[in-house]
Amino acid sequence: MTQVIKFLSLFLLAFSMNTFAQDKQCMEVSLTGTLGGPDVYKGLAGAGTLVKVGTINNGCSDILLQFDAGRGTALRLAELDVHPNMLDAVFLTHLHSDHTVGLIDIAQTRWHSFSKKLDLVCSEDVEANGVFARVMSCEQFAIHIADAALFAGEITQRISESKKRNKNGPNDLINFMPVALPLANKPKVVWQSGEIIVTAITSSHIPGNLSYRVDSPAGSVVIGGDAGNDKLTPPRISSTSKNVELLSKDVDILVHSTIHPYIGPIYGSTFPTPIFYRQSTSTDLGALAKRANVSHLMLTHLVPAIGAEKLGPHTVPGGALSEKDYLKSTRESGYQGKIYVGKDLMTVRLLQ
Ligand SMILES: [Zn+2]
Ligand SMILES: [Zn+2]
Repeated sequence: MTQVIKFLSLFLLAFSMNTFAQDKQCMEVSLTGTLGGPDVYKGLAGAGTLVKVGTINNGCSDILLQFDAGRGTALRLAELDVHPNMLDAVFLTHLHSDHTVGLIDIAQTRWHSFSKKLDLVCSEDVEANGVFARVMSCEQFAIHIADAALFAGEITQRISESKKRNKNGPNDLINFMPVALPLANKPKVVWQSGEIIVTAITSSHIPGNLSYRVDSPAGSVVIGGDAGNDKLTPPRISSTSKNVELLSKDVDILVHSTIHPYIGPIYGSTFPTPIFYRQSTSTDLGALAKRANVSHLMLTHLVPAIGAEKLGPHTVPGGALSEKDYLKSTRESGYQGKIYVGKDLMTVRLLQ
């Protein structure tokens, strides 16, 4: 009898320990695309980061947040067993097409699959730089997200086959949540679900640029986007953003777009200097991560892509770069944390 009790006790202990392990809170950060810029290269998807939060028990999937959605995002999500319908919200750092075109596909796929509304968080309208003083408008992007399909008649044709479809088209399934600007130097809560809080801060790159931070019981992540220094040309102390540094204080993971110093003007590159200067270099990102006490630095949106000898019409000085080149230039900062040189679908999991 005593043996039976002992066995049962051990069984219950093992069961409860396993249940406890399954109930552990987790956060998963996956790169859904790592290509920098609107060009194409070797099947790499456009910029994007999926953040999942939940428990081990449910595959870390209570809440699914997508930050930016470049070319091919829906395909990369499918490789992670995530259907676009499963997303709770999409956050855009800015309106460059290498961060947004994948949202057109996501919106249409959700409409096609009778999805509920999708929260879309991005900047309110801001005046664009340039001769014609146009407005950069995330709202207009959302309103016109399926115009080609609408004007081609596809939306009407598909509605005629199924009355269940939303009659106004994919744009009607977007819950636009504009972030009022300016945010100055203080992060502001822009989205929340229970203990999962997303904050945003203004950062320099183009008008309306935002960087985001997710805090959850399992950990935290900052998505810097294409942010660079407020001072757009040297002399300056760093190419990185002061506000991204503020947002990244003690964060577990920093995901940030990266430009390699070799394609800067001092190495003889013909790459346009204004574009080079509005991004953050790998070395300066390492220094930011060191100052802000970041545990994991995920380099993404790599300019130039690993293995590419050319960047559009511009030759990469010294030939194509490798993963080691990115690691070396980041380590030169003295940063001792973990560095990940981004590849599509690379995933880091945090446990409570
Ligand atoms: Zn970009
Ligand atoms: Zn950009």
